[in-house]
Amino acid sequence: MPAIRQSAAQPASMPPQRNADRHIERMKRLGHIVAARDLSEDDRIEALLAFAASSLGADVAALGDFSDVYTARYAYDPSGTFVKGTVVPVSDTFCHAVYLARALLMVEDLLAHPDFADSHLPSKTGMRMYVGVPVWVDEGMKSVLGFMGREPSRQPFDEADVAFMELLAAWLGSYLRQKQQRDMLEHLALTDELTGLLNRRAAERRLTEEFAHAKRHDEGFVVALIDLDHFKSINDRYGHAVGDEVLQAVARLLEDSLRTEDWLARWGGEEFLVFLRGVDENRALFIMERIGQKLRETPIRTHVGELRVTISTGLGYPGQDDSDIGVVLAEADSSLYRAKQQGRDRVELRAQSSGIIWLAQTVKHAVREGRVRMATQNIVDLATGEVVADESLARIQAPDGHMLPAGEFIDAAEGMGLMVDIDRQVVSQAMARCTEQVVAGNKRPGFAHFVNLSPQFLARKELVLETLATAQTYCTQCQVSLGPVKPIVFEITERQFLNNLDSLEADLKPLLDFGFRLALDDFGSGYSSFLYLARLPISFLKIEGWMVANMRQDKKISGIIENLANFARSQGIITIAEWIEDAETARILRDMGIDWGQGWYFGRPELA
Ligand code: GH3
Ligand code: MG
Ligand code: MG
Repeated sequence: MPAIRQSAAQPASMPPQRNADRHIERMKRLGHIVAARDLSEDDRIEALLAFAASSLGADVAALGDFSDVYTARYAYDPSGTFVKGTVVPVSDTFCHAVYLARALLMVEDLLAHPDFADSHLPSKTGMRMYVGVPVWVDEGMKSVLGFMGREPSRQPFDEADVAFMELLAAWLGSYLRQKQQRDMLEHLALTDELTGLLNRRAAERRLTEEFAHAKRHDEGFVVALIDLDHFKSINDRYGHAVGDEVLQAVARLLEDSLRTEDWLARWGGEEFLVFLRGVDENRALFIMERIGQKLRETPIRTHVGELRVTISTGLGYPGQDDSDIGVVLAEADSSLYRAKQQGRDRVELRAQSSGIIWLAQTVKHAVREGRVRMATQNIVDLATGEVVADESLARIQAPDGHMLPAGEFIDAAEGMGLMVDIDRQVVSQAMARCTEQVVAGNKRPGFAHFVNLSPQFLARKELVLETLATAQTYCTQCQVSLGPVKPIVFEITERQFLNNLDSLEADLKPLLDFGFRLALDDFGSGYSSFLYLARLPISFLKIEGWMVANMRQDKKISGIIENLANFARSQGIITIAEWIEDAETARILRDMGIDWGQGWYFGRPELA
């Protein structure tokens, strides 16, 4: 390996014999460190750096590698400035010159060296002396062993120094090669070949660490065990190779569905494990329900065509006195068993759980089993007292028989991504009822049926198309010519902040083209903004109940309502006030110019 520059001359100050002794002494010491049995690998490298630095009269030593940046993998610097892991731009290192030239470089005084005298580096780093050696790993050279000193070297470097440096670099190269191989083997031993996920061994190791960490920091976590449903039948029908494709696709889908702080492993054949960090069981249930739904809805592409799979999930989480992760895993396992027993394609957790869990389970089962019921509440023309419309409201029956109003379960349903299914069930019931009434002829012409739709529902093209198809069928059944405007009015609101109005407009268009109209719900609540009013073709404006309930105590609120009424009238929009509970409120609203009203004063919601 040629040196870029080196002083071959013997230092005049030291007789040749003494210099040879020094060299032998140095080699011996190097051999001791390399062979020392009581040093860890990291300690050995650090000891070598420290020893080599002192024997060269350097203040700083580093073994670093080059990619887009320079990273010091090992460092020795008693001043504590240049530590292990330091990353600097390549142009800010002396070692870059060695990396480019692939040759040893020894500079007794940087300011006297033609390549560095005019460089900004000596003054920027405060360094005067530099020694750098390329470290080869097989045929590749990515690392440089570098030494820097704040003072120029007291004597010129000689052949013995070169030999010492090259021996050290050769030893480091072979060490790095072994380390790379070890790392690769370790990686292979901890990775599942088929999916590229952590394998069970790695997961077990990590779970033990996570458990200890969570205990120390008093943090919660949930472990989810996932098992594919009826996976054997995929293997049986299409062969093992397709089964493997499915496993890979499920792995990717799970991976893409997780938050960055969570992790995933292949736990067994067709079982996966998810670690959910810093969550309680409620949140974990929501997360895993959503993932289950995503899997249910996502076709998996294989070379025999698209397949669908579902998963069963069991949750486990640590209790106060749990001493190790085994308890949590056992719980997840028995919950998974229960999920399978109860029909698969579901998430199960500890039987005795909190009220929210109970609610979540109730909502989930009702939605899945198509048991969402519909109640309707009358809407009255404030001027005439005539019932001119009604609103369909979702209800869910609790196991004890009582009906849960929407307000009690909407948050849980949204959390689990179930709003879409609830909307779907209510919309079809509302259309069926509308048809019955039109056919029976027991409602005045122009009677409107209000139905709530979530933005999530509108964003799903296939559901919008399905709604239109259902509507077509019903309209044909009616055999009543309705004209361009249909009785169904969709109420939209902004419960989950939706900032893309462009896409909402596009999502709504097919429904509006069909003759459905649009009501802006909860206006004045913060869920529903002026932007919606400005951008969307709104036919009805529903004034939020809280404003109605408070307008008599607060002139400002009644002022807003009155102005809204005036504005809406000028735009041809019909206003509807909610939460009217007494005659006086109804009268005041009518005098302000509000068109229609709804509330307990006119009637409570009744099951259809
Ligand atoms: P369920 O879990 O819903 O009760 O039914 P299942 O059919 O999924 O149940 P079971 O656990 O009995 O079957 C799991 C199957 O998964 C059996 C096994 O051959 C298959 N399997 C396990 N590992 C792999 C794999 O790496 N590739 C493929 N293709 N199949 C695998
Ligand atoms: Mg299994
Ligand atoms: Mg299975």
